[in-house]
Amino acid sequence: MSRRQFLQQLGLGSASAFSLMALNPLQAFASPARSGFRPSTLTASDTKMTYRRQNGSGENISLLGFGMMRLPREQEEVDRLVDYAIEHGVNYFDTAPMYAGGRNEAQTGAALSRYPRDKYYVATKMSNQNQQLWSFEKSKEMYENSFRQLRVEYIDYYLLHSIGGGGMDALRGRFLDNGLLDFLVKEREAGRIRHLGFSYHGDVRVFDYLLDQHEKYHWDFVQIQMNYLDWRHAGRGRRRGDADAEYLYGRLEKLGIQVVVMEPIRGGSLANVADEVRQQLQAVRPDDSPAAWGFRWVGSHPNILTTLSGMNKMEHLEENVRTFSPLQPCTEEENQLLARIADQMAGFPTIGCTTCAYCMPCPYGVDIPGNFAFYNEAVTSKMLPLPEPSAQDYAERQEAFIKAYREAIPAEKRATTCIDCGQCLSKCPQQIRIPNQMSRIVELTRKRRK
Ligand code: SF4
Ligand code: SF4
Repeated sequence: MSRRQFLQQLGLGSASAFSLMALNPLQAFASPARSGFRPSTLTASDTKMTYRRQNGSGENISLLGFGMMRLPREQEEVDRLVDYAIEHGVNYFDTAPMYAGGRNEAQTGAALSRYPRDKYYVATKMSNQNQQLWSFEKSKEMYENSFRQLRVEYIDYYLLHSIGGGGMDALRGRFLDNGLLDFLVKEREAGRIRHLGFSYHGDVRVFDYLLDQHEKYHWDFVQIQMNYLDWRHAGRGRRRGDADAEYLYGRLEKLGIQVVVMEPIRGGSLANVADEVRQQLQAVRPDDSPAAWGFRWVGSHPNILTTLSGMNKMEHLEENVRTFSPLQPCTEEENQLLARIADQMAGFPTIGCTTCAYCMPCPYGVDIPGNFAFYNEAVTSKMLPLPEPSAQDYAERQEAFIKAYREAIPAEKRATTCIDCGQCLSKCPQQIRIPNQMSRIVELTRKRRK
């Protein structure tokens, strides 16, 4: 459905309303509704943001999308980030009912509703992963609540959240047997959902099953984890071999389904790379950060609609805006360099944690993402006390590792408090064997007898 048909269906479709959008969304930069709020003075010509055209509706989506998942708590700070993003051409905002302990949609709605509705595209999700929410009634309640929290009459991009976790049984329970997916398809026909898709993590059979049903459901887009490491090394450190992003992207491209990318820098791990990787990148583009390389690699793929970055600091937002304004696609040589770097990284024993915190809270108090972030940092900075035969300084490195670990993680949140209850396992979209990895960290902090 085009935006014009869609607005007409909602009774909002005056010619002037539609013409506000035109082809460049920035031409419609009218004053935000909240009184006292000063609109930007920027115009379309002030931004060089790269846009991708959405198949079907023809709307232009900024290639940099704003992942709202890690927003700061203070609404004023959220507003400031959103204002900067919109001023610089970002028009895609991604949230979900479960983010930030349930506050994220409301924060997103408060920030975006200060702008005219045709100024931004908002994506949210059916986050009914918890089995207590599988009934049609409970899920519908969550769906309806999203409209209230976001203060909208229609949702631009609606996703079945995190398909693949729990395998086919969870898909049937969450969406098929209860009639919820059929309901969401009808909501799209009615115009309350403009584009319907799903985000995928985990069991690739679920991904394949839903794409096999494309004739029936007509997916408008699909959200996948894609970055230069997961392109061919997605299975590293996971519970079972995940499908590589190359496979996922390839299937979607063949079907003509556009891709929304999550984790383009793998939860920040591709921004904090080991020194030797950083040096290889700087030798080619001295001014670019490792994160910029990651974003450029993703954005260079033509079937990407937008690339989500979870930005909670102004400096990250500014840097990402620079990277995408306009995006300079990677050359063939740069792609080859990143492929070689990915092969090198696949040899580093990092844990594929994106610090999303879906697994939290741990009932026993373990700071799961904090422990994994510390561990990964130790790997990339070569602080890890690995007992290699050549490592003369093993004891010294272990001392340093233990000291840094104790400083970074309070006693009650350390890996030693994990009792292997397994409650976090099904919540992790990265399929990480969390208790096993906690045991590895405990092992590293246990001093060996001489
Ligand atoms: S397995 Fe460990 S980390 Fe996971 S919920 Fe249980 S105690 Fe917490
Ligand atoms: S362990 Fe899994 S669920 Fe927990 S923060 Fe890391 S990636 Fe997210």
